[in-house]
Order: sequence, then structure tokens, then C-alpha cells
Amino acid sequence: MFKELKSTGSWSFIRSNFLKKILLLEQDFFLNSPLLCRTNMSSIFNISKEIPLMEEFPTLQGEGFHSGRFSYFVRVAGCDVGCHWCDVKESWKANKHPLVSYDNIFSNALRSGAKFIVVTGGEPFMYSLESLCKKFLEKNFELAVETSGAYPITGTWHWICLSPKKNKAPLDEFYAKANELKVIIYNKDDFKWAEEHASKVNSECKLYLQVEWSKRDENTPLILDYIKENPQWKLSLQTHKYIGIP
Ligand code: SF4
Repeated sequence: MFKELKSTGSWSFIRSNFLKKILLLEQDFFLNSPLLCRTNMSSIFNISKEIPLMEEFPTLQGEGFHSGRFSYFVRVAGCDVGCHWCDVKESWKANKHPLVSYDNIFSNALRSGAKFIVVTGGEPFMYSLESLCKKFLEKNFELAVETSGAYPITGTWHWICLSPKKNKAPLDEFYAKANELKVIIYNKDDFKWAEEHASKVNSECKLYLQVEWSKRDENTPLILDYIKENPQWKLSLQTHKYIGIP
């Protein structure tokens, strides 16, 4: 039987899928392990050519500084930050999503016509993203990443959007490198939280307050009042949700 599988090429297919499953099981174990420290998962699994991917699609960037810009979104799967209001909870478990090769992601992005790539999650920096960045940079794509800052930066980026989360504070290196600080306002305490991070970022970093979607009716007026008093901040709206695009 093995001979037959080998001759048809099915054996290598089965073996590669088996190995992928083992990797994802290990990944799941580490993602849920209390012993997990802040190292990139790919340094544990040596995934340098593929990544767990929840979805990829061309769209307009809906939020923050690049809002309205034609983009190709790459939503990496896996996040252990655990924000209770997270609107992409289905991204948390990496093993619920396929491993997709960087080659595939690259050719899909190329086909979309977008020259601006937004890598988001999940938490993208749970993986080493050097090879992915390299692939896009070689063809002069512009690269942006959206992160909680909970894991070390890997890869080379034109734009780093830091969106700090209370469950897992950002690493210090992000404050010097962030191009944009985007703080989600869920309750009034979050304004204080926003200022704490604004006091640490570099002087060029753009400051945005963005209402948590389920609280938009009650909190948007609070944000507008806050910005009137503190004009160093700007409003970020999830414009893609208002116009019904992904
Ligand atoms: S960091 Fe982002 S993806 Fe992770 S739980 Fe928080 S909002 Fe969701």
C-alpha cells in the first residue's frame, strides 16, 4: 500500500499533511500553555514559508491613518491576548485555520492589484514575519502591520500601528517604532490608558482614538468631547463597517 501511495505521490501529500497537523497541535499546546513566554511561535515551529491564515482579501483600509486606502488584508490566525470585546474572536485559535504558504499569499495579493499590504490578526507578531516581508519588499509593496505589541517585532515595515491591549501590555520596543498609536475606547477609563501610552511613543507617532464598535452610540460623543480638549488626538472610525465592506 505504501508503495502504491508513493508511486502516486499521495504518500508525500499525506506525510506533509500529517506534519502540518502535528505542528498545529504543538502550536495549540503552546498557545494555551501558561508557560508560554513572549517568543515568536515560528521560532518554536520553524515555520518560515507558511503561516496560519484566517483570511486574505482586497479592501479599503477602514481605520486610522491609512483609512480609505486600497489595501490587501492578510489576517493571520492566532491570538492569546483575549480582549473581551474582540470582533475577530474566530481568529484566536490558530489550529482552526489552514497553513498558507507565503508564495500563495504573495500571488493572491499581486493579483488583487493592491500595492499596500496590511498584515493584521489575530496577533501577527506571534510569528516571525521576516520571510513574508522580504517577499513583498522585493517587489516594492508597501507594508503595514497592526499589532497589540505583545510580541517582539520581526520583519521590516513601512508602517506599524500599535493598538495596546490591557490584557497584555506592549513591549517597550514598540513605543520607539510605532508610526501610529490607535487606542480602542470601550469605557471612560480608556482615556487614561490612552494617555499612558501616548506619553511613551515617539514624537512622530500619530495618535488615534477609536470607539469600540458595540459602544459606538454612547462613546463616540465622549471621544469627540475628549478630542476637542486634547487636539493631539484624532478620531478613527471603522469606516468599512459603516459602508458594509470587509
Ligand atoms: S489583540 Fe486583537 S485579535 Fe487579539 S483579542 Fe485583542 S482585539 Fe482580538
